[in-house]
Amino acid sequence: MTPEQQAQLQEIYDAARVSFTPNQRELIKQAFEFAEIAHEGQKRKSGEPYFIHLVATAVNLAELGMRDKVIAAGLLHDAVEDGVASEEALEKTFGPEIAFLVDGVTKLGKVRYQGMKRHNESLRKFFIASAKDIRVIIIKLADRLHNMSTIEHVRPDKRERIATETLEIYAPLAYRLGISALSRQLEDMSFPYVYPEEYKRVKDIVKERSKQTMNKLDKVDRSIKKKLAENEMRNFRTSHRVKGFYSLYKKLLRKKWDTEKIYDIAALRLIVPDAAQCYQVLGIIHQNYRPMPGRIKDYIAFPKPNGYQSIHTTIFTGDGGLVEIQIRTENMHQRAEYGAASHLGYKTTTGSLPSNISTKDQSWVGKLMQRFFANKAAAEDGDDATVPDWLSNLASNTDETDSESFTQQLKEDFFTHRIFVFTPLGTVIDLPEGSTPIDFAFMVHTEVGQHTAGAKIGGKLVSLDTELKNGDIVEIITKPGAKPNKKWLDFVQTNEARRKIKSALSRELT
Ligand code: MN
Repeated sequence: MTPEQQAQLQEIYDAARVSFTPNQRELIKQAFEFAEIAHEGQKRKSGEPYFIHLVATAVNLAELGMRDKVIAAGLLHDAVEDGVASEEALEKTFGPEIAFLVDGVTKLGKVRYQGMKRHNESLRKFFIASAKDIRVIIIKLADRLHNMSTIEHVRPDKRERIATETLEIYAPLAYRLGISALSRQLEDMSFPYVYPEEYKRVKDIVKERSKQTMNKLDKVDRSIKKKLAENEMRNFRTSHRVKGFYSLYKKLLRKKWDTEKIYDIAALRLIVPDAAQCYQVLGIIHQNYRPMPGRIKDYIAFPKPNGYQSIHTTIFTGDGGLVEIQIRTENMHQRAEYGAASHLGYKTTTGSLPSNISTKDQSWVGKLMQRFFANKAAAEDGDDATVPDWLSNLASNTDETDSESFTQQLKEDFFTHRIFVFTPLGTVIDLPEGSTPIDFAFMVHTEVGQHTAGAKIGGKLVSLDTELKNGDIVEIITKPGAKPNKKWLDFVQTNEARRKIKSALSRELT
C-alpha cells in the first residue's frame, strides 16, 4: 500500500464512532484493497481517481457510526456496477451478507427520479429495493452525500435531476430515519440547484440577520451559564445551532416570507446529563427570562414521530430580542443527529439492548429497535430486516397497477404527517394523521378489519371513529358475526381501509 492509501485507510478508521477489533479492521482493509483494484485507473467527472468516491462513502458511513460490514460494503458498492469486479468474486471474498448489501445498493442506484410518469415506476422500485434492509438505504445515503459534494462537475441537466431527487427522495428518507445530520446536509447541498432564486433570497436574509442573532446568542449563552452555575449546575455544554438554509426556506414559505415571524434562524443548544436536568434547566431559564407563550415545546414527553426529543423554548432577551433555546441530553442529541443509524452501529451477539437504547424509549424508532434486538436474540443473527412498517408496506404494494393512485398514495402515505401507534404486543403500525381504530384494524389484518366490533385505546373502550394519537396502544375487539358498516366510510383515512370496506359491502349486496 502506498503512503497515500495508508492515509486514506487511516481516515476511515479515524472517522469511526465505534471502536473496531483487529478482525474488523482487517475486513475494512480487505474491502479497501479490493475496491482499489476494481476501480484502478478509473476517473470521476471531477478528474479525481474514482477510488476517492469509495473512501469518501466509507468515511461518511464511519461517521454515521456504522460497523465494519457496512463500511466494507460502502467501499465495495460500485465495484461490480462501475468497477471491473465480478459479483461472484465479491461474494466469494466477502460472503453473502456483504454481497447482498452491495447488490441492494446497485439496485437502488438504478432508480432514477425522472419526473412524472417514469418517476412513479422508479419510486416504486426504489422503495421495494430499499425495504429489504435499512443498511442498504444508509449506504446509498452516504454515497449520495459524496456525489452531492462533487455535483458541480456534473452536466447541468443531470445535475438538476440528481439534486431534485436528493431533495425529494433522499433527504426526506434520512429525516424519516431520524438521521437529521444527513438530511440537513443533503437538503442544503441540493437546494441551490433545485431552487436557485429562492436559495439566493434565503441566503441574503440569513446574511442580514445572522450577525445580530449571533451577538444575541453569545450574550444569552454567557448569562445562562452564569445562572446555571449559581444553581450548582456545571455539568453541561452549550453550542450554537444555525438552521439549515432549506429548512429555513420551508419555514419562510409557511410564514409567507415574514422574517419577523422566524425566531430560530439560530438557536442556543444546551446539553445536560439527564432528562430531569432538562426540566431543571428549563425552570432556571424561565425564572430569569420571560418565555414566549405558545413556543414551549416538550418533545421529551412527546417525541416527534421520527424519535426526536428535546425541549424547545423561545425567550425574550430583555433588549427587544428573541432567542430559541433547545435543551436535551447527550443521548437525545446523538439520536437526533444519527437516528436509526445510531442504533445500527451496535452489534449484539447476545440480543441484549445496546446501552444507548432505553427500554423506556417510547419513540417509534426506539420501539422498532427494541423489537429488532428482541427478535434478533430469537432468530440468532439470521434476520437483519430492520425495516420500518411504513417502508415495507410501500414495498409490498407491487400489485398496485394504477400508477396514478400509487403516486397519490405515496404523497398521502409518505410525504405527509404520519402517526405511529402500537398493537398490544408492541408492533409498530404507522398511519396517516386522523386515522381511526378502523384504519388500524385493516392495517393489522384484513380479517381483523372485517370483523371489528369494538376498540380499546390504552385499555379503555373508545368509539370506532376516535382519532388515534401518536404512541396509542390500540386493541381491536373482533366478533365472528361483526361486519363492516357503511358509516365507517365517513371517517376512515386510509385507502386500504376504504377499499376493503367497499368491497365487503358490495359482496354483501350480491
Ligand atoms: Mn457510488
